[in-house]
Amino acid sequence: MQNADIPQCDGGLDVARSKGRSGRPYRRLRDQVRAASRVCWICGHAIDLTLPPRHPLSWTLDHLVPLSKGGDPLDPSNARAAHYRCNSGRGNRLRARQPTTSRRW
Ligand SMILES: [Zn+2]
Repeated sequence: MQNADIPQCDGGLDVARSKGRSGRPYRRLRDQVRAASRVCWICGHAIDLTLPPRHPLSWTLDHLVPLSKGGDPLDPSNARAAHYRCNSGRGNRLRARQPTTSRRW
């Protein structure tokens, strides 16, 4: 006698882990990295944790492998501390150098 009336469980309906920067695990990692490293991995200077969030020299969480390139936002080995300025300005470097004026005699 078969009385298989067991409801089948759709186990795969777990909400897909959004690869975003929100959620508890991400905040946890962020706090860990902030407690562990207070030196910008890009420029090598210390980061002042007391600065407001959008200050150019405030602390931000950066990723060695960008999320757009498949980097894991929740992998501690992929997370680095960086200045807000350094983090956001990594792609486009500031042109501090002035073009050498060519002298023509
Ligand atoms: Zn920096």
